[in-house]
Amino acid sequence: MLNYKAYFLDLDGTVYRGTTPIKEAVDFVHYLQNNGIEPFFVTNNSSMTQKQLQEKIAKMDIHVDIDHIISSSIAAANYIEEHFQGKSVYMIGENGLQDALDAKHVVRTEDIADVVVMGIDRAINYEKLATACLSIRAGAAFISTNSDHAFPDERGLIPGNGAFTKLVEHSTGVEPLFVGKPQPFMLEFIQKKYGYKKEEMIMIGDNYLTDILTGIHMGIHTAHVNSGVNRTEEVQRKNEQPTYCLESLHDWIE
Ligand SMILES: [Mg+2]
Repeated sequence: MLNYKAYFLDLDGTVYRGTTPIKEAVDFVHYLQNNGIEPFFVTNNSSMTQKQLQEKIAKMDIHVDIDHIISSSIAAANYIEEHFQGKSVYMIGENGLQDALDAKHVVRTEDIADVVVMGIDRAINYEKLATACLSIRAGAAFISTNSDHAFPDERGLIPGNGAFTKLVEHSTGVEPLFVGKPQPFMLEFIQKKYGYKKEEMIMIGDNYLTDILTGIHMGIHTAHVNSGVNRTEEVQRKNEQPTYCLESLHDWIE
């Protein structure tokens, strides 16, 4: 399965589950690399930096260049650089978002800002939400890394960034722009940087509503893997089908 030049792999549920690697995906990455193809990794996780993600997958024997790891925080920073250069930014988020904004020399403020950007923040509080709402009511642009309402930890499903973003949206009446999956900003960024044609690109993931729809929105081929949130049978009931439904990425190793 070497028909493409740019392979975009989701991380959680596709390459690993929590801290456990998915062997079939690790083998597939090695197979691509042995054939001279360096895949990209595309995650809605905004809390971890590129370096932290690189170190995490390195422990699973996946060794990639840092530029091949794109998170929704990177997408947010790129978007702000492109559309709001020189504007002040109020951030709710963790290391991953802070690091991405700093790398683009974004001017951050703790006060009323021109742009509000939200990512998951496990130290979120009333004052942070108030500053975000006051900025947006004063006319700030409203950007959020991703719309995931919940994500799993050991205890079960806990609130995701989309839940807090919804709170700010509800209070202000202003809809955010989401830059993570299923919006195609992360893929567009890579396409622009490396000049791939759409027919050379494929998005691979376990989640229909994020990964597969990202590829469909982008107009590229998609592959669903049966290793994470959506089972193959669920995906096959959807109107718009992925290009491929795979049991695992071992299906593609010759
Ligand atoms: Mg996933």
